[in-house]
Amino acid sequence: MKCLCCPQPLRTSLSAQKNGTYYKSCPECSDFDSEHVFYPLEAFGNRDVLGTEIQSWCISCRIRAESERKIALDLMRDPNYTRVYVFEKLKCRQLLNN
Ligand SMILES: [Zn+2]
Ligand SMILES: [Zn+2]
Repeated sequence: MKCLCCPQPLRTSLSAQKNGTYYKSCPECSDFDSEHVFYPLEAFGNRDVLGTEIQSWCISCRIRAESERKIALDLMRDPNYTRVYVFEKLKCRQLLNN
């Protein structure tokens, strides 16, 4: 499905920068909102211990995903877990109009 705002598919992870902060779109949130949904990079976490590859989905989506329940439980034990929900959420139009 296409984004309501730009020509890119919703499942494509886009990167953007605003006011010196780097954002990435979450494919799962974007699909849900029919528009690219961006969060700061910290909302994704890293895929490997070296921290070199960023996760595709935001932490909230990974918690929702049944197949990743174990990761979700690990995250809930993380003292930083509650921070997930205060991450800034930007829609595609808010970044492209900048
Ligand atoms: Zn878009
Ligand atoms: Zn998400």
